Amino acid sequence: MTVEESTARPVGALHRTPDRQWTGWAETALRREQDFSRAILETSRGLIVMMDTSAHILVFNRGCQELTGWSEEEVRGRKLWEVLAPEYEHEDRQRRFALLKEGRISGGFESHWRTRSGDERLISWQTAILYSDDGLIEGVVGTGIDITEKRAAELALERERQALRDSEARLALINAELEQRVAERTAQLMQMERLALMGAITAGLVHEVRNPLITLSGYHRLARRAIEGLKGLGPAGDVGAAVALLDERFTTAETAAGAVVDILENMLAFARKEGKVEQLDLEGIARELLRLMGAQLSGIRVRLDTAGMPVPLKGVKTQVLQVLLNLMTNACQALAGAERAEIELRIEHGGGGSTVWVIDNGPGVAEEHRGQLFRPFFTTRSEAGTGLGLMISRHIVESMGGTLSYRGEDGGGARFAMDLPAAR
Ligand code: ADP
Repeated sequence: MTVEESTARPVGALHRTPDRQWTGWAETALRREQDFSRAILETSRGLIVMMDTSAHILVFNRGCQELTGWSEEEVRGRKLWEVLAPEYEHEDRQRRFALLKEGRISGGFESHWRTRSGDERLISWQTAILYSDDGLIEGVVGTGIDITEKRAAELALERERQALRDSEARLALINAELEQRVAERTAQLMQMERLALMGAITAGLVHEVRNPLITLSGYHRLARRAIEGLKGLGPAGDVGAAVALLDERFTTAETAAGAVVDILENMLAFARKEGKVEQLDLEGIARELLRLMGAQLSGIRVRLDTAGMPVPLKGVKTQVLQVLLNLMTNACQALAGAERAEIELRIEHGGGGSTVWVIDNGPGVAEEHRGQLFRPFFTTRSEAGTGLGLMISRHIVESMGGTLSYRGEDGGGARFAMDLPAAR
């Protein structure tokens, strides 16, 4: 019997040569080869099994015996699936032997062997067809390696990798949820703070609206009186002068009414959650801010300065207004009860953007508090403060691509700077 790879055909029978000397040499070579094969069978730690075409076991090397607990005598002549293959693989093994008879078996595959003690081992096989001297298929030789532990380790590794992938996916999900919650909460807080600020400026607003309203109703009264006077004028009366007076009073009343409408519209825009992105006029916003704050600023000397050529800026006007209102309100609170209270609202243009400074001559921020100013809920105003104003203001400014920072010096009052980048 000679062994050929499953894909190759037998080369021919060397010992059929008629030459005597050649025959002797060939016999010696054959014996050596057999000894060599036996030695391999005996010493190999791998599995070597030889079967005929009906799966009867012919050779069962030491490796096989040690692995299965069966001796060669016990298994020789028995069919593979009677003694070694577990039931669930019988069909597959029988199919393979059917293919073997046709000379069509695949070189490598994996299958299980059941040991004498009932354990199952996974084995990786390489097979080769055995041909007789006449080239007939006689059986198959399989060489195998026990890969049970290796496969278990691979599976464990894969399970760990999968668990890692699962936990990464879960983490990403939790992260996304968390980010969404933070975004929702920030939006809520921003709205809360906006409402709180609205409450804070309501007093100023009432004052602002009351003045033009008083003017409005006063001038209406005067206008009515002028009309009465006009009625009482005889044909010789100075109608022209009376009409001019009436005109002037109506104009003043209209201006006052316009002021009320302006203030209320500003208020409405401010209360709205979203605003439209537009070209920003920082000076205009600063003036509007001072008008909105009105009475809150009484007793404080406010200076509005600008420096440099205005650069194009884009953003939501009401958001900038909210930030500045917050900084100014903080400054007013810091200055409560102070003598010669002063706030400087300084706008500087240039260097790729604009900076608005809100500077007061109050007590400033203690050094140990400076690192916490923009943290949520940091407040030194106990019950009266929310500790959200600066945090939300910074969030707004950063969402516009800018920065908001405290740049005060010791003993010099508070200095906050809002930097906004120029629009591209
Ligand atoms: P709140 O005003 O509700 O306390 P903010 O976030 O607006 O919340 O301000 C946080 C803290 O920063 C204030 O409590 C105060 O201690 C400090 N602060 C802010 N502006 C000034 C300022 N102009 N002068 C001194 N301290 C200030």
